[in-house]
Amino acid sequence: MGSGRFGKFGGRYVPDTLFSALVELESVYKKIYRTKPFRSELNSLLRDYVGRPTPLFLAKNISKELGIRLYLKREDLCHTGAHKINNALGQVLLAKKINKQRIIAETGAGQHGVATATACALMGLQCVIYMGEEDVQRQSLNVYRMKLLGATVVPVTSGSRTLKDATTEAIRDWLENVENSHYIIGSVVGPHPYPTIVRDFQSIIGIEARRQILKLEQRLPDYVVACVGGGSNAMGIFYPFRDDMDVKLVAVEAAGNGVDSGQHSAALFAGSPGVLHGSMSYLLQDSDGQIKVAHSISAGLDYPGVGPELSFMKDSGRIILEAVTDSEALSGCHWATRSEGILPALETSHAFSALKKISFSKNDLVILNVSGRGDKDINTIINHDI
Ligand SMILES: *Cc1c(COP(=O)(O)O)cnc(C)c1O
Repeated sequence: MGSGRFGKFGGRYVPDTLFSALVELESVYKKIYRTKPFRSELNSLLRDYVGRPTPLFLAKNISKELGIRLYLKREDLCHTGAHKINNALGQVLLAKKINKQRIIAETGAGQHGVATATACALMGLQCVIYMGEEDVQRQSLNVYRMKLLGATVVPVTSGSRTLKDATTEAIRDWLENVENSHYIIGSVVGPHPYPTIVRDFQSIIGIEARRQILKLEQRLPDYVVACVGGGSNAMGIFYPFRDDMDVKLVAVEAAGNGVDSGQHSAALFAGSPGVLHGSMSYLLQDSDGQIKVAHSISAGLDYPGVGPELSFMKDSGRIILEAVTDSEALSGCHWATRSEGILPALETSHAFSALKKISFSKNDLVILNVSGRGDKDINTIINHDI
């Protein structure tokens, strides 16, 4: 699986103990991932438990309004309501194969925590979820969901008491319990081999979408659009199109109160390269290298970093960047819901809103990754009635 470097990005900036755990994880992953028993067990779970393949839906109303052909990749229809389950299930299955009985994960909005707790309930593994105290309060429904699923939720009181601090605590736990525990990162971030493992498990999105669009339209799309927090749903749909140079890949970040306000989560758009959570990538940091607090109306995009492979794709010019503010995302949410009867997650709403910023040619063929559904966000949406 290579060096874990994407140009200068990626790598393993971790203490020695963790380094050997990562090397071991890389070697078992390489051995198991392509074996027939693993593939067939994972594939049947993806089909019968998650509900894959997810549909590719022609959104006729928005298509007509914009003069394009817009297809929606419906990850919102996955079990638990978002793409996160693709990775959680793959990694819990991996943990089981390597005899780790205890799963550790971090979560911000709670979506990755819910997906991980779900996979652990299914496969009978112990599950410990680290969550910033601030997020525990903001996302009480998801906290209760995780507890219902049998997980232990540990509130983290250090730092900004959000996702960044929860990740730090989860890594600390793994360091102490690496013998019996497997750590599941929720996005394409962290030290090698995580960005590659998570991308591989999420690539099912793009593999299906590519096959589906070829069948429906007999050609590849002009654009693939996805929102970016850490970058897992984006890498998942982009990766199988990476060598199709005529397919433009659009990464949409959260501009919060505006990229000039300093209150945003647009690490690719407005950050600079640095090291966070064990890898080199674009980050929001001050001139001393201190990590800035990220802001977005959508908790899933509220992270100061972004995956190393996306960082590399930015520098190599393979992706087009867009940034969408909180209020634009809210409008995008209302627009998608009223136009197509599909309530997208606020994360995904950023991607919808970006459709209005891209200068399409007539009849362009566009795929938008609907990373998740918006039921979890109703309280936020009510409080920002437009
Ligand atoms: C977590 C989440 C995201 C952001 O994470 P990525 O790793 O960037 O995909 C986007 N959409 C939804 C619905 C999420 O739950």
